[in-house]
Amino acid sequence: MLLKNKIALVTGASKGIGKGIALALVKQGCSVVISDIDDIELKNVEEEIKLLGTKVLAVKCDVSQKDQVDNMIDKTKEFFGGLDILVNNAGIYPFKSFTEITEEDWDRVLSVNLKSVFLCSQKSLEIMSNGASIINISSIASFVGFNGLTHYCASKGAVNSMIRALALELADRKIRVNAVAPGSIETPGANNPDENIKKQTISMIPLARMGQAEDIAGAVVFLASDLSNYITGQTIIVDGGWTLR
Ligand code: NAD
Repeated sequence: MLLKNKIALVTGASKGIGKGIALALVKQGCSVVISDIDDIELKNVEEEIKLLGTKVLAVKCDVSQKDQVDNMIDKTKEFFGGLDILVNNAGIYPFKSFTEITEEDWDRVLSVNLKSVFLCSQKSLEIMSNGASIINISSIASFVGFNGLTHYCASKGAVNSMIRALALELADRKIRVNAVAPGSIETPGANNPDENIKKQTISMIPLARMGQAEDIAGAVVFLASDLSNYITGQTIIVDGGWTLR
């Protein structure tokens, strides 16, 4: 086990990549705080983790709202006493052509995908000790353009830039800050029932398959563990080779 007795918090953990990350951290010995706006699915994940015999705290939280983020971290402190690993995973990717994006659309995407990283990271630092790790789920959309995702691309590009500065500021506390940029991962949010679109997507991926939540979770476990002790401020692409060509 790479993360025995560590306390980890994962946002957006009710489903998809966040759920996969939470379960992978549990397998590596972590106790976990799981949070999401969808508290019905969150309860199911909580039960699943409890059945594995792991200590788990589930907190409903919209990561774009400061009062809810503060409450989530206060509850983490009350329940576990501190935090070793923060995974900023919650994110939204509503497709809309640039000319149709409203100011509200823009603000919502930037708040959930970017402001949340600021809110969750800053508040977590109050209860993190030296040597902790912050991991952000970015996207290959921070490196390449996607039609209909201008606001999303902007939010994820900003995450990559933000963590380089934050990693510098936190280096004296030996707190490492990194990101994982997934390619096309099969999740409820990214699900497209059209088999032709899926085939088309797979044809662009050198490793010739869609990614799974576990593929992203593997990189997160690595970045949370001592195996990556000398890595900070980096964004690791996990995309089956999509962005190689
Ligand atoms: P998903 O929609 O399947 O799951 C996201 C979870 O986040 C849901 O449980 C949802 O309720 C929760 N959530 C949404 N808004 C929230 C908020 N304001 N506060 C708290 N929780 C909230 O999505 P996913 O595909 O698992 O994506 C997870 C992360 O990975 C996102 O940051 C996304 O941008 C990133 N990503 C996904 C893919 C992909 O192909 N699936 C690719 C690149 C990056």
